[in-house]
Amino acid sequence: MKKGDQDLIKNMNTISVLEKVRTEGPISRASLSRVTGLSRSTCSIIVDQLISEGLICETGKDESSGGRKAILLTIDNDGGRAIGIKLMQNRIAGALVDLKGQIIGTISKEMDSSFTEDELINDLHSVIDSLRQIEKKSRKKIFGIGIGIGGKIDFQKGVLIESSILNLRNIPIGNLIQDKTGIPVFLENDVNAFTLGEKYFGEGQDYSNFLCISLGSGIGAGVIIDESLYRGSHHMACEFGHMSLGVDSLRECRCGKKGCLEAYASDSAIELYYKESTGRNPGITEIVSLAEKEDHHALNAFSRAGRYLGFGISTLVNLFDPETIMIGGEGIVYYRYMEDQVRKSLLENTVYGLSDEINIRPVSYEDNLWVRGVATLVVKGVLRREI
Ligand SMILES: [Zn+2]
Repeated sequence: MKKGDQDLIKNMNTISVLEKVRTEGPISRASLSRVTGLSRSTCSIIVDQLISEGLICETGKDESSGGRKAILLTIDNDGGRAIGIKLMQNRIAGALVDLKGQIIGTISKEMDSSFTEDELINDLHSVIDSLRQIEKKSRKKIFGIGIGIGGKIDFQKGVLIESSILNLRNIPIGNLIQDKTGIPVFLENDVNAFTLGEKYFGEGQDYSNFLCISLGSGIGAGVIIDESLYRGSHHMACEFGHMSLGVDSLRECRCGKKGCLEAYASDSAIELYYKESTGRNPGITEIVSLAEKEDHHALNAFSRAGRYLGFGISTLVNLFDPETIMIGGEGIVYYRYMEDQVRKSLLENTVYGLSDEINIRPVSYEDNLWVRGVATLVVKGVLRREI
């Protein structure tokens, strides 16, 4: 067998061991050998190597087994660190996390909204550098940097292809940051990162088919089908915010098209509804405060947006028949004012009684979902041995 083939097989075996420890741990070496189909000695060599790398650790003994109690293995969440970055319109949010997405420290940096590519890379590098300083003394290995961005991403090449939020195109962010830091970089669309985070560490762990919807200045959705994220053939699956509603007034969307859901149910749409009925033009935060005080116009604006959001979600339910739907994003603070309309729309627009089956659950924004999402990118990279 050629050396390259041997390396490939060894790497595949290592991936298999890591994945089984993650999904079935705590697990003994004997059970690991059984579920992976690898010999005891091969399994043992791989386990020793992964322990030395800080990826898995021993965690107590199997009390259920009779006779000599086997030592159990688990993923060593504290064995290393990941850096998570969320790139927003005028801010970079960063977090240093353990391999379970638990936050150790955070840094935020405001950006001028008209930044150049060089300024963006320098600002990202400065946030990453500050995060690395947080635990400098512990010398824990940083396995990777996960970056979530709203827009079209080639996650395999680490390239931001296009982002209307950031007004950027064709930037190989992954390579540029990796060259500067020497750490592997994993880039992903922010809603996909949220969805993967739910699948790996959140409520999605219990489901094989579900949707995650993100509300706020934009609207997006991520789809898990048969345990895996569905990306489509051009990394653009489920551009939910740009689903055409085909309604008569055809409001313009920031993507340049007309009639997109985002133009009818995002922050800016809600602000527009409020302006249309009052002549005043407050921002979304103020409209949320007004709704809390039961302001009729504010409640009505959310209700209108909720109706359109409900149309959109009904279509997703009819298409994907998910087990559950999770709703997150900055707009989660006002989802409760849209909820009745969404449920009404589901009842009216889904088929075969699917609305009775579907459970829509808002996911708390305070849970730092994006951090969990970007940490997941790194953990997935580690599990695929892209380190
Ligand atoms: Zn659009």
